[in-house]
Amino acid sequence: MFKPYIMLDKITDIEVADLQELGITTIMTDLDNTLLPWNSNDYDLSLRKWLNQMAQNEIEVMIVSNNSYERVEKAVHELPVSIVARAVKPLPFVIMEHIKEESIDPKNILFVGDQVMTDVLAGNMAGLKTVLVKPLVNTDAKKTRINRFFERPILKVMQKRDKNLYWKESLNDRK
Ligand SMILES: [Mg+2]
Repeated sequence: MFKPYIMLDKITDIEVADLQELGITTIMTDLDNTLLPWNSNDYDLSLRKWLNQMAQNEIEVMIVSNNSYERVEKAVHELPVSIVARAVKPLPFVIMEHIKEESIDPKNILFVGDQVMTDVLAGNMAGLKTVLVKPLVNTDAKKTRINRFFERPILKVMQKRDKNLYWKESLNDRK
């Protein structure tokens, strides 16, 4: 349930060629601390470049956030992304409904986030391939701090059971 398909440092480590090999056409991603730092709307040039690359290769990047549409839109209005707001992660229902509405095959979706207990859980329950990334900034909003506290031991137990579950450099490093 909590186990990601793969663990990567950051979302921009995901490369077009690897996505194409896996048949991924849509990336669903968390916003706070995955795409942007949770406490600011500043993004660096590498994110912009990465998003442009995705757009050029017709890979849709969809932000799936528990925040309101207004908050997400304010943060990303200049970027080539679409928005699924009030996603109620870790529940998978809003995500699944959206996938159905857009008629995307779940096999073609990669779900990316920085939290095991919300993002990975939601993605797994929706039947998607999940990527756990490291949070962009190390401080967290209050409600996230509680999740982090539980997250570490969960990750440790999973890593004990699965020797292949550690931070990798690229999507195709998964064996
Ligand atoms: Mg997050």
